[in-house]
Amino acid sequence: MKVQKAYRYELKPNNVQKTLLAKHAGVARFAYNWGLARRREEYQCTGKSSNAIEQHRLLNALKKTEFPWMYEVSKCAPQEALRDLDRAYQNFFRKLKNGEKPGFPKFKKKGIHDSFRLTGLFKIYPSHIQLPRLGKIKTKENTAKFKWKILSAAVCRIADRWFVSLSVDCEVVEPKEIKKEVVGIDRGLEKFACVSDDSTFYAPKPLKKLLKKLQRLSRSQSRKVKRSSNRRKSAIKLAKLHYRISNIRKDFIHKLTTQLAKTKQVLCVESLNTKGMMQNRHLARSISDVAWGEFVRQLEYKCLWYGSHLVKAPVKFPSTKMCSRCGHINPALLLSQRTFQCEDCLMECDRDINAAKNLERYALITVSSTGIDACGEAVQQGSSVKQEENAVYPGGING
Ligand SMILES: [Zn+2]
Repeated sequence: MKVQKAYRYELKPNNVQKTLLAKHAGVARFAYNWGLARRREEYQCTGKSSNAIEQHRLLNALKKTEFPWMYEVSKCAPQEALRDLDRAYQNFFRKLKNGEKPGFPKFKKKGIHDSFRLTGLFKIYPSHIQLPRLGKIKTKENTAKFKWKILSAAVCRIADRWFVSLSVDCEVVEPKEIKKEVVGIDRGLEKFACVSDDSTFYAPKPLKKLLKKLQRLSRSQSRKVKRSSNRRKSAIKLAKLHYRISNIRKDFIHKLTTQLAKTKQVLCVESLNTKGMMQNRHLARSISDVAWGEFVRQLEYKCLWYGSHLVKAPVKFPSTKMCSRCGHINPALLLSQRTFQCEDCLMECDRDINAAKNLERYALITVSSTGIDACGEAVQQGSSVKQEENAVYPGGING
């Protein structure tokens, strides 16, 4: 089975290359903002706006006279940026259609998510990557193992470091071993995940400590004089800490999702109304901190890789309030009550384990009704294609 994967390497550019990378990111940002401004204007005048192809044609015509500095970088940078803009519009309208509350595409700011994308001819050397127009750039990690044909590359700057993410088509070998376990996974704030086979996973402790440091740093950053070099320095410090926190978090989630997708046959998680929960300002920080969405996104594509099946229980499924033994629903269960007590059959058990067991049962019912064979022939649906194998920072290329 073929899947699309992305491999990410950190670059070690020299000073000339660093400048050129920054120029590429600058041109990509300029093209994106130029395109967005034009589309907004066009829409206000005519009620319609042009697409990426039309805009690219126009930008090419203007390039010679108005923006000659664009010739210093690869033509892919502005072209792909305009395509990204197209995608941003499509996402906006799709969400609007689905009745969600979308954010309108925003102008990009210098220094925030600096990135650009390239297509064309790439070449891999054991410790270098050759990118179109940018030439051979050293990588920090050895690339000798890389053996796939590169479709496109995305380059981004995080905390003053440059990374390249190479997207490739990979053949995934169907796993041979037969896994039979069906489990439910309850996600929580205190315990990150509680699995119905009685295993519990806690999110790494350093996060809490680093979050304190993060708050302190961002406070000190906001007190620095605008445009001063001290402010710039502290901004880099802050970005580095953000990067470190996200690495710890992603490392934990990657390891956990790989372990689950590799060892279980059917996994069941409940769909959470995260947006609704974020409205509660006492919970908002903790919820955004635990990265539930990322957890499910990774499970989706890793289940596809390892031949498992992911079942999502609907938002309304009463996983916490239902007794996992007799099915009695206890509507009066408070968030502070850590043990579940059934009024009907008098069962007493840990609240999260109870929820996980309910999800396990939901998975069993779904599996038997949709005819998924528990020996491996799972029918995959709704799989996500955007994924990164060795990376700890997927999906962030365009914000
Ligand atoms: Zn009961």
